[in-house]
Amino acid sequence: MNIRLWTKALDPLALTLLLVSLLLGCGGNSAPVGSTPRSRETAETVAVPKQSDLDRSVVELKTDVCEHKMPTYTCDECRYQVGVVKVPSDLLDPAKSGTIEVVEVGSRAVRGGTDLNAEIRSDEERSVYVSPVAAGTVRVIHVDLGGRVAKGQVLYEVDSAEFRQAKADHTRAASALDLARATEQRESELFAKGICPKRDLLEAQAALRMAEAEHRAAASTLASMGLSDAALDSLAAGADTSGLMPVRAPFSGTVLERALSLGALVQPGDRALLLADTAKVWAQTTLYERELAAILSAPPGAPVGADVTLAAYPGRVFKGTVEKIGGTLDEVTRTAMARVVVDNPDNLLRAGMFARVRLLLEVAGGLALPEESILEDEGRSFAFVRLEGPYYIRRPLKLGKKEGGWVEVLSGVSSGDTVVAKGAFLLKSDVLRSKMGAGCAD
Ligand SMILES: [Zn+2]
Repeated sequence: MNIRLWTKALDPLALTLLLVSLLLGCGGNSAPVGSTPRSRETAETVAVPKQSDLDRSVVELKTDVCEHKMPTYTCDECRYQVGVVKVPSDLLDPAKSGTIEVVEVGSRAVRGGTDLNAEIRSDEERSVYVSPVAAGTVRVIHVDLGGRVAKGQVLYEVDSAEFRQAKADHTRAASALDLARATEQRESELFAKGICPKRDLLEAQAALRMAEAEHRAAASTLASMGLSDAALDSLAAGADTSGLMPVRAPFSGTVLERALSLGALVQPGDRALLLADTAKVWAQTTLYERELAAILSAPPGAPVGADVTLAAYPGRVFKGTVEKIGGTLDEVTRTAMARVVVDNPDNLLRAGMFARVRLLLEVAGGLALPEESILEDEGRSFAFVRLEGPYYIRRPLKLGKKEGGWVEVLSGVSSGDTVVAKGAFLLKSDVLRSKMGAGCAD
């Protein structure tokens, strides 16, 4: 019946009865229990006749002697009175059953550190206001706010006097080049026939080189104004007479701002249209001293990874790396700004969204135990800690924060202790107890 002691007994009366029965021994046997005096009885435990093993010291529990005149913890029938279980070695043997696993308590650096609040920002180094290279009037707009564009795509077209002039200059240069070529050709033939002096040929050759340079310059001016190679070709063929100057996307991205209207005058440097490369975005966050120290002491050249999650996309993890860290700590909050560059392949992350950042680095921490090793009884947390040999004893724990399947342990275990991890709940259950042939349970 005292199996129930191991489960969460919420009813104080039932608990009292249980503890009374414990005091009286297994199966209602009224033989006296251990001889150790209850020296640590306090006002809080007055209502409970017997002190919980969680409130007694290991030394006290270990020296307890049972009704069978043996150390209670070694007694198959009574060890539960001192919170001890026996774990047969084959339960620990991974080759046989592997039902139970133990871990050694260490000052485990907790991977993941703290979850940090962050805000998604567009990559300011990869966002640019796209304005025309020459002033003009907006005639055609090809993109909408939020639209995705490819590198080189025409965003809008501007009617520009400067562009018309550049086209005219190009046309003139092309004509001059044609003329210079023909002249050079003719002089070359005449010179070959000995009809004209070499000096005329040299002059024609020099004129041709100059015309070529001017044509190249005119063409490159047009190219810088957004004219494509194909458009240049058709221009040379006299097919293109449009005065509209295309304004192209310098890289693939998303249109984040669009302050354009048809008929408006736009000039170089205007904040006409904001284009951002959203293949990567920033998660801007603040680091506490502990995380900051861990990042700064990370091996150089190895970027610190981060998992970024958003309430908007449950279950989805966006991968990122810590790229920039503020130079100083804020005096009041003791935090530093940090920027995590996040992959955004599906363009799901938008500036202004709130996110959580988990740094993938070892943050120096205190003692920690796997979550599965921590059990609850009477509203208190405990773990099975190795006493000696196959014996494990319940020890109360004071817990810190949980992260990544581990729980920080503030007190209750020491570095080097062996604690039951996997299967700990089985030790708590009567199933395993009967399997282990424990006395009181049957
Ligand atoms: Zn006994």
